Amino acid sequence: APRILSGMQPTSDSLHLGNYLGALVNWVTLQDEFDAYYFVADLHALTVPTDPAVLRARTRATAAQFIAGGVDPERSAVFCQSHITEHAELGWVMNCLTADGEARRMTQFKDKTAKGQNANVGLLTYPMLMAADILMYDAAFVPVGEDQRQHLEITRDLATRFNTRFGEALVVPEPYIVKGAAKIQDLQEPTAKMSKTGSSPKGLIDLMQDPAKIAKNIRSAVTDTDAEIRYDVDTKPGVSNLLVIHSILSGTPVPELEAAFAGRGYGDLKKEVADVVVAAVEPFQARMRELLDDPAELDRILASGAERARVVARATMERVRDRVGLLPSA
Ligand code: ATP
Ligand code: MG
Repeated sequence: APRILSGMQPTSDSLHLGNYLGALVNWVTLQDEFDAYYFVADLHALTVPTDPAVLRARTRATAAQFIAGGVDPERSAVFCQSHITEHAELGWVMNCLTADGEARRMTQFKDKTAKGQNANVGLLTYPMLMAADILMYDAAFVPVGEDQRQHLEITRDLATRFNTRFGEALVVPEPYIVKGAAKIQDLQEPTAKMSKTGSSPKGLIDLMQDPAKIAKNIRSAVTDTDAEIRYDVDTKPGVSNLLVIHSILSGTPVPELEAAFAGRGYGDLKKEVADVVVAAVEPFQARMRELLDDPAELDRILASGAERARVVARATMERVRDRVGLLPSA
């Protein structure tokens, strides 16, 4: 089967509903069709200053959440990015192929620095490390959310640039557009995407949060003043976001929801959305509790995933070293 690769950063204790609906549920489906590699992007997480003990806990929790969400480590390689040291190595090669201005133009870097978040050089070169993550595994496809599309574009550019300059060695990956993939917005700021590092606690729906708190956040979601339940992202971003969340989790098309909620108030909508979200989150949390009860088993899963990934990564780096003119080390 063609190889597919995707990762998530351990930048919070819990994934949020955007990670779940926009990525994780698709990862689960893709296992049937592809040779899937799913990793915890712990090196990327270092771009956000974090207490070491917290980072360790979050890395395990993120891997556990992949599995609680339905990733099967028997079929898919589940591993930590930092366990494969070749990522940093290939990332360096990618840095050296990227122009300074090209890196500075990336929207995510511009957005994050505009918000006043600290701009370390790791944040600037994040897309080059991400390119390395992808190119390492000769991935034919990368499932990407809208927020990662530009990063996949630069990955393709870098692979092509490498191949042109040094001779064919890297597979140029195609975006894998998941049909109907969701983009979930921040509850408090519905024109911005829900984000682990960009959203306030009230703007997030955390998968590991107390269900009562989840319901409360949904009840206080920002809507608008005209009291009409209708999907219109431009003029009604908050209401549209709630409709999307409901629709995906309940399997009800948005137009049917609009009809069902005609003449009813935002309070009704929020209550139903909260019910639907809580019903999805409860079994997920139960599975998480089992996984976190057995950290040794989790570490074993990560070790075996890394073993599988390392075989591919070593072969790629050997090819890359040879092409760019680094002497073989042994
Ligand atoms: P950060 O703020 O640290 O970048 P994040 O919330 O964007 O965190 P990532 O770990 O960067 O989360 O992304 C993990 C996956 O979740 C990616 O595939 C990304 O496309 C997807 N994703 C992130 N936020 C959303 C969202 N709001 N809606 C849909 N998908 C999302
Ligand atoms: Mg992100």
